[in-house]
Amino acid sequence: MKVVKVAIVGSGPAGYTAAIYAARAKLEPTLFEGFYSGPAGGQLMTTTDVENYPGFSEGITGPALMEECRKQAARFGTEILTEDVKNVDLSCHPFLVEGAKTKIKAHALIVATGATAKRLEIPGAGDGELWQKGISACAVCDGAMPLFRDKELYVIGGGDSAVEEAVYLTKYASKVYIVHRRDELRASKIMAERALNHPKVELLWHSVISRVVGKEFVEKVMIKNVEDGKEEERVAGGLFFAIGHTPNTAFLNGQLRLHGNGYIVVEPGTTKTNVQGVFAAGDVQDHVYRQAVTAAGTGCMAALEVERWLGHQGDESS
Ligand code: NAP
Repeated sequence: MKVVKVAIVGSGPAGYTAAIYAARAKLEPTLFEGFYSGPAGGQLMTTTDVENYPGFSEGITGPALMEECRKQAARFGTEILTEDVKNVDLSCHPFLVEGAKTKIKAHALIVATGATAKRLEIPGAGDGELWQKGISACAVCDGAMPLFRDKELYVIGGGDSAVEEAVYLTKYASKVYIVHRRDELRASKIMAERALNHPKVELLWHSVISRVVGKEFVEKVMIKNVEDGKEEERVAGGLFFAIGHTPNTAFLNGQLRLHGNGYIVVEPGTTKTNVQGVFAAGDVQDHVYRQAVTAAGTGCMAALEVERWLGHQGDESS
């Protein structure tokens, strides 16, 4: 079995940045960029314009940014495997990293698997019901589908994602309602203003969706006011969840210490996990900032820490 100095699992800004730094440090990284688990490139592949990543004064699309990062990682010699990691064994060293097709051993491991959009258990919205039949957790991936054109669409959430998705959907929808359980948005001020000032966006405060109705596709939603308990049925062409994310740690099988909310615990100010030689970067360990630029920053930190750690191991990896 091939033994590498460092394996990187995940391919968003954290994974690619870790690969760029590790490759430039001649650590010859192997990066598992994923396949079925989600698009290689992570969540930015399902976003539109990224306006807050430094260096792009006019903005850049998420997919274009990730494509550049991928090319940069490859240019310095990263081996990129387009497959998911199913399992790791951190009890042995070098660690075992088991991909869908490829098994390798790695002296150091960087986990950069990001997070996945959450769904709500609403009657009518489950698998086998109307999920993916007018219900989605990614407006940018699915919003352009013909079934959403010129319809009244509903977005659940009150954060930056909800606002971003709602504004994005106005390109196709006749009207977009943001359904939020409180009377104040969690979104940043600039994003919140974008929603509040948009002629096609309306906020439904203190509200939740209690049921989704439709034969083949979404036709109606029941909106419940959480203050007075009143329910109202409305015609709907689609429903989008924008209520946050769950970190992607299932493949670790409990081998790393996690916070109560599922994010990987790292030593403060570092990317070190509780297992020596295993580092975590990006959204999988960050429940606070969750930005592309912070993910890239922690990817860089992880690669530098790997380099230092391998050095301390007395060059056993060479
Ligand atoms: P978030 O900030 O955690 O917001 C999640 C929203 O969903 C909150 O408003 C929350 O309500 C609501 N929510 C959660 N669980 C719910 C439930 N069970 N029922 C109803 N509502 C529920 O997540 P996010 O919007 O995905 O943003 C995550 C991070 O990415 C943030 O740091 C954000 O700044 C960043 N982001 C940035 C951009 C951008 O700058 N372009 C775009 C997208 C995301 P409460 O407010 O009541 O808790």
